[in-house]
Amino acid sequence: MDKIDLRSDTVSWPTEKMRQAMAAAPVGDDVYGEDPTVNQLEKLAAEKLGKEAGLFVTSGTMGNVVSILTHCGRGDEVILGDKSHAFINETGNPAAYGGVHSWPIEVQPDGILPLEKIKAAIRADNVHYPITTLVCLENTQAAVGGQPLPVDYMDAVGALCHANGLKLHIDGARIFNAAVAVNEDVKRVVQAADSVQFCLSKGLCAPVGSMIVGSADFIRRARRIRKAMGGGLRQAGILAAAGIIALEEMTERLAEDHAVACILAEGLATIPHIQIDPSQIRTNIVLFSVDETSPLNAPQLAAALEKDNILIRPVYTQNFRAVTHYWITPERAQFVVERIRSYLT
Ligand SMILES: *Cc1c(COP(=O)(O)O)cnc(C)c1O
Repeated sequence: MDKIDLRSDTVSWPTEKMRQAMAAAPVGDDVYGEDPTVNQLEKLAAEKLGKEAGLFVTSGTMGNVVSILTHCGRGDEVILGDKSHAFINETGNPAAYGGVHSWPIEVQPDGILPLEKIKAAIRADNVHYPITTLVCLENTQAAVGGQPLPVDYMDAVGALCHANGLKLHIDGARIFNAAVAVNEDVKRVVQAADSVQFCLSKGLCAPVGSMIVGSADFIRRARRIRKAMGGGLRQAGILAAAGIIALEEMTERLAEDHAVACILAEGLATIPHIQIDPSQIRTNIVLFSVDETSPLNAPQLAAALEKDNILIRPVYTQNFRAVTHYWITPERAQFVVERIRSYLT
């Protein structure tokens, strides 16, 4: 990677090994179910997450909308976080394409939606109301700094859903970061979920794609909705080959990205005008801000860093979100800290 790109982990390039596997991948027509590499990836994803079946989709956004539209019909309602990606950043697609209404609940600083708030949002059987059918949790919860959800909390939400006849979907774009952070097998983390979406193309470095996993019946129905949304791919084994390496070789090493996030946070904490609490760093997302008296505000600092080949995205005038990944080594994180120090002192 030529630049030090901290804007997101989606920017991570595929590894050399992925590129070679992609070039050599056996392929077939996946809409006919004949691509051996896609079939292998779907089986592997299901096994890894402890579900019956898997489905390759083009993106996390497609994974979420296909899952929601598989669980919910028109006039149904999904309960989800008010800062969740599915609520904020996915174009309102459950409403636009499925007639599914959203009930947002305030995400807490630790990433959870309070259990009693979820319970209170479940609709009674009343002619005035939509029908609650689904709860969607995001793990890790990106907007509050990549917070992993505790496994007992996930279990409790699953139990609440199932006691009320609801399904539980996990937007697990970074579910392997969550599993590493809470030191549990990913299977255990998503045990209570009926469906999970996770991204191959973020910290796991694959160039394209996400997976949905769930019961065999759920995936059979999701496959039809994926097709309806234009997501039926042909020789997709070219892409799935990178996904197999992502799942087999890139999940455990995410601890390294979390360590680099800590190096970045601890370094930033020593710089005047930077506000950050390094103890909040649990995974690969680092939130920080510059104070009111800083010589440069956030957009000005980002512009200065761009000349050093460092890309970092300011949020409004004072805040930043930096995301570590495979291509951000400890040395590169140190370099970023020193360049920021030079502009603020
Ligand atoms: C990135 C992300 C998505 C969407 O993934 P895309 O592949 O960019 O569509 C969904 N949820 C969360 C939490 C994400 O971070």
